[in-house]
Order: sequence, then structure tokens, then C-alpha cells
Amino acid sequence: MTQTHTSPTANGGAAVRVRFAPSPTGYLHVGGLRTALYNYLFARHHGGAFVLRIEDTDRTRFVEGAQENLIDTLRWAGLDFDEGPGIGGPHGPYIQSERLEIYRTHVERLLAEGRAYRCFCTAEELETQRREQAEAKRPPMYDRRCRMLRPEDVEARLAAGAAHTVRMKVPLAGEVVFQDIIRGEIRVSCAVVDDQVLLKSDGFPTYHLANVVDDHAMAISHVIRGEEWLPSTAKHVLLYEALGWDPPQFAHLPLLLNPDRTKLSKRQGDVAVEDYRAKGYLAPALVNFVALLGWNTSDDTEIFSLETLASLFTLDRVGKAGAVFDPAKLDWFNGQYLRAMAPADLAALCAPHLAAAGADISDTARVEAIVAALATHLVRPADIADEAVFFFAERVAPESDEVRAALAADTAATVLDLFAEACTGVNPWERGAIKAAIQGVQKASGIKGKELFLPLRAALTGRAHGPELPVIAELLGREVCIRRARDARS
Ligand code: GLU
Repeated sequence: MTQTHTSPTANGGAAVRVRFAPSPTGYLHVGGLRTALYNYLFARHHGGAFVLRIEDTDRTRFVEGAQENLIDTLRWAGLDFDEGPGIGGPHGPYIQSERLEIYRTHVERLLAEGRAYRCFCTAEELETQRREQAEAKRPPMYDRRCRMLRPEDVEARLAAGAAHTVRMKVPLAGEVVFQDIIRGEIRVSCAVVDDQVLLKSDGFPTYHLANVVDDHAMAISHVIRGEEWLPSTAKHVLLYEALGWDPPQFAHLPLLLNPDRTKLSKRQGDVAVEDYRAKGYLAPALVNFVALLGWNTSDDTEIFSLETLASLFTLDRVGKAGAVFDPAKLDWFNGQYLRAMAPADLAALCAPHLAAAGADISDTARVEAIVAALATHLVRPADIADEAVFFFAERVAPESDEVRAALAADTAATVLDLFAEACTGVNPWERGAIKAAIQGVQKASGIKGKELFLPLRAALTGRAHGPELPVIAELLGREVCIRRARDARS
């Protein structure tokens, strides 16, 4: 009879406690942001705790400053954690390299109870095993030779100071069965589960041991993480069983994909949250966009604040299918959020980009009006530099053949002359009166539509597209309009 290693369901209604457990190996990946966000939303939805735990036991992948960067990026995104490095909490420390004693204690217990064993195989021996398995087309798995060592052999090797790891004794038969909130029941045959290393020869725990010990020690109720961790979960369930603990509930989030449906990769665009931040994406826009990568509401509402997301978020609306990370959609969100900002705030965000492009930004009211006029053309604040260039330039030149052709048209000279004359009589100099003056040009010349507007736009901006002409003219000022109309004419 095969034995079933089942994870008991639910955590008996205990308080919701979730964690984001990044490894400090560099930057925060957008997939990591999605995991952090879903954990945060789940915690807030249930009035539970959101814990940040730094999983830094793989010393070969440790990157100096990565932890600080992670925390800074999470704060920027508005994902405040309730317990974690720097702020502490009842289950600290929250950095795994500061918890080594805890892991060792549990390993000792597993050894004493015959649930784990010392493995003296060297890296070379393991490599040979792997090669032989590959040649025989068998899956790579430790052949368990040290599991069979007699106690006196183990003692002798220990006495000789032989380097070793500690491995978990995976049951040789049976099945691991657990429930995933998103994926339903998962069954894995023990025959394909490796005798996982729990403690490395340098005395550091592996991810698997530290992760399980800490999720238990920190009273984590739900493990919400990326799908790439699903294959590890069978090992974790066995480890909980070996340690005599009930596992938390699991929810594995769908993969993030490139628009061509391959796994989201650096090669097809930015994947670091800090890159989006540096490019001027607004935190609420990025968070809103990321929230919808795998989760949705029953209607097609798309704009959500963090608070609304928290009130709506449930795991039963997280899908199984991979979610496409479409940068064009992120741009759309960012544009929406930029336009929703108070004009003065948007101007303050854009002004440094104008200044960097050499614009005179001393007239704050004018800068605000220019930014407001161009708001619908902005995806990122930095776009203002190009969009507004004609407002600050001494002269403008046609930027394309279309603009040149508009100025070379037979009727262009008449339009420009009449406009320059009409400018003198506009009083006050504001968009309504300017609009009336342009209508006057139309009446006087009989020229209308594109033939009227395009040469004017070309003369004033050097471009074929942009905000409404009267708005542009008002912001440029009377003198500049007259001068540009005359310049374009000659
Ligand atoms: N340290 C793992 C990571 O870097 C955590 C995985 C998990 O949430 O269990 O993603």
C-alpha cells in the first residue's frame, strides 16, 4: 500500500500572515513586485500581517546593497511591511543569515530522529553521478549512497573532520499530495523527489530548509509565490511532515510572459522595478498595471488605487494562465496617472526635464500651462522635453517633409501673412480671441481646414501635430507668433 503524504488543509482559521521572501541578489524584478503586491493585498484584505524576510543564505549569489535597494523599492511602491528588517517584529530576526542557529537546531533534531542523514559525497562524486545519469538518460537525482552508511562509518568520518552536507530522507514510496489555492490538488510521486540537501557543507541552510523553518517560526498562514517554486513545494510538504508541523496554505502565481508569450526576460525589455522608476513611471501606475497581471475583477475596470485593490483582492480571482507583461499597456497606465495629477504636481515632475533640456523654467505659471497643454501627449515625465521644445526654442525648423510641404503650399504665404497681421489686433491675448482671429483669416482668405491649420502649426511649432493651435499661440505670446509666422514665410 502506498502511503500518502498529505498537507492538512487550512490553518484552522488562524490569523492571516503572509510574507515576501526575496533573495538579495540584485534588483527587484517586476515578477517579484507582483508577488510582493499580491501578498500585501491579501494581508490588507484580511486585516493580517505582511512580513518581509530576506533569504540570503546563498552566499554565492549575495549582492552588497541589494537588501537596501529592495526595501527602498518596496517602500516606493507603497507596499509597507508590518514586520521585517529595520522595523523588527515578534518573530525576528527577519534576515536568514542571522538565524543560522535556529536552522542548525532543527537539523540536529531531524538527524536524531532519523529523518535526515549526513552526506559525505564530494562535489566531484556528485558530478560523476550526474554525468552517468545523463548518459543513461535518467533524471538527475542523488543516488542516496550515504543514506545507507552505517552509524559507525558516519562517526568515523565525522571524527576525521570530513566535510559533509545534511540531506532529507525522502520516503522511498508513496505520494505527496497538497492543495494549491490557485491550482487545486497537486500530486507528486515520492520516487521523483530528491533527497534534498538541507544543510550545506559551509553550515548554511539551503533555501528549502530555511524557508520551511521560517514560514513555521513566523507563523505564516499562506505562502503566495511564483509558479517557479511549485516543484519545490512537494519537498517542503515532506519537510513539514518530517519536522512535525502543519504546512501553511499554498498559492502559486502564474508566470509573467513577454508579449510573444515566452517567459518574461531581460532581453525583451526592462524587468527591474528600479529601471521603470528611473524612467519616470509612477509607483501607483506600475502597481496598478502589475496588479492586473494574473488577477482581475469581474468587470473591466482598470484603474485601481492600492486601497481599492486591497478591498477587492481575493486569490480566487487569480488565474492559472501566464500573464503577458505588455509595456504598451504600462505606458497607457502611466499616461492615465500623469493626467490625473494636479496640474501643479505634474508641472513639478516635468520641470526638471525641461530644465535639463535647456528650457527657462523660471515662469512657473507658464510651465504649468505648457505642461497642462501637453499632458495628453505624455507617457513619462521626461517626454515633456521633446514635446515642449518649441515653446522654449528661439526659432523652430520644420521637423519633417510633411511640415516643409505644408509651408511650401501655394496658399501658405497668404495664411501666414494674414495671421501675422491679425495677431496685432487680438485683445486680450488669450485662446478664445486667438481662435476668433484664425477664423477671421479663414473668412478673409477663403482658405480652410488643413490648408489653413497646417501652415500655421508648422510655422509656430515646426510640427504637424500637437495641442490646439489657439492654446499654443496663447502660450507662445503675440510677439513670438508674429515672428514665427514671418520667419516661416521668408
Ligand atoms: N527566496 C525565494 C525567492 O527569492 C523565496 C521563494 C518563496 O517565496 O518561497 O524568490
